[in-house]
Amino acid sequence: MSEKTYTANRRDVLKQATTLAGLAAIVGVASTQTAKADGGSMSPASVGYVDHPNGTHQCSNCSLYIPGTPATANGLCKAVAGPISPTAWCQIWAPAS
Ligand code: SF4
Repeated sequence: MSEKTYTANRRDVLKQATTLAGLAAIVGVASTQTAKADGGSMSPASVGYVDHPNGTHQCSNCSLYIPGTPATANGLCKAVAGPISPTAWCQIWAPAS
């Protein structure tokens, strides 16, 4: 392998690595922004979140709930941060219309 060929190959590898790093950074930022946009910021403890229903009231029939896929999986809440169980409940529950 000549010196010139080695240099060209190294340049190509560096270009590809830079491109991949840039794409990874963009995907990472997009994922973070999606999570912040969809989920709330209140802590579960601050709203009395519990992992069981309160009678017939539960996250899956709350107006603030964003269902997961499938519907039995954890979803998100427009007010509360973190994964939210469809069968959980909290003090700011509001009926879905
Ligand atoms: S009950 Fe509370 S945690 Fe569940 S979806 Fe409604 S506001 Fe969010």
